[in-house]
Amino acid sequence: MEQHPTSHPIIIAIDGYSSCGKSTLAKQIAKRFNLIFVDTGAMYRAATLYFQQQHIDISDELQVIKALTAIHITFDIVDGYNTTFLNGKNVESEIRSLAVSSFVSEVSALSHVRRKMVALQRDMAGKIGLVMDGRDIGTVVFPNADLKFFVLADPIIRAQRRYNEMLFKNQKADLQDIISNLAHRDKIDTERADSPLKQADDAILIDNTDLSIDAQFSLVESIILTKLKEIG
Ligand code: C5P
Repeated sequence: MEQHPTSHPIIIAIDGYSSCGKSTLAKQIAKRFNLIFVDTGAMYRAATLYFQQQHIDISDELQVIKALTAIHITFDIVDGYNTTFLNGKNVESEIRSLAVSSFVSEVSALSHVRRKMVALQRDMAGKIGLVMDGRDIGTVVFPNADLKFFVLADPIIRAQRRYNEMLFKNQKADLQDIISNLAHRDKIDTERADSPLKQADDAILIDNTDLSIDAQFSLVESIILTKLKEIG
């Protein structure tokens, strides 16, 4: 029997390219509709940090499998912000570094890594609804999500936004390095064999190149309100 959409807590999937503002949008949705927000990129970044710290050779399957058993990722709110913990340590700032960004797509392409993260992500669907952002949420993690968005923007605009964000956080930033890193990640993320980044057939495309954060949110908010009315 087909399950009625209102018989379970709502799930909203947001996928798209790196630095397209997916997490910003997901946080706005979570606040407005009282949903749990999950940044799956942070999970892949935390795993990557662990692999780097432990000097794991990612071409050695046994090393990868063993390392994954030692990785425990949790989220908590610190000073009002969603914060990522790796084995109990706050790694929120470290996982955003260019060192991690430069290696995260290689680690994320490994099937053993994806299997573990996807299982953890599915376990997060609980009693209240959630909004989850990533690369494979609408295609793999929650193919039956109630609503799916696929976000994109012009690559130079994305790099400029990321650059401004890093300067705002007093992090070292070089625009050319960011442009190269985004292109590198886009390529690996879209071309990998396991769960490549792609728009789900039933995802709504949002190109935010010329949209402000507020304009984008208004658009998405109205789509969600329509959906909620539809499903009662
Ligand atoms: O979203 P964010 O840019 O932080 O993600 C970092 C990287 O993690 C991506 O470039 C991608 O390689 C990987 N990722 C993934 N699947 C997800 C989320 C992120 O492969 N669901």
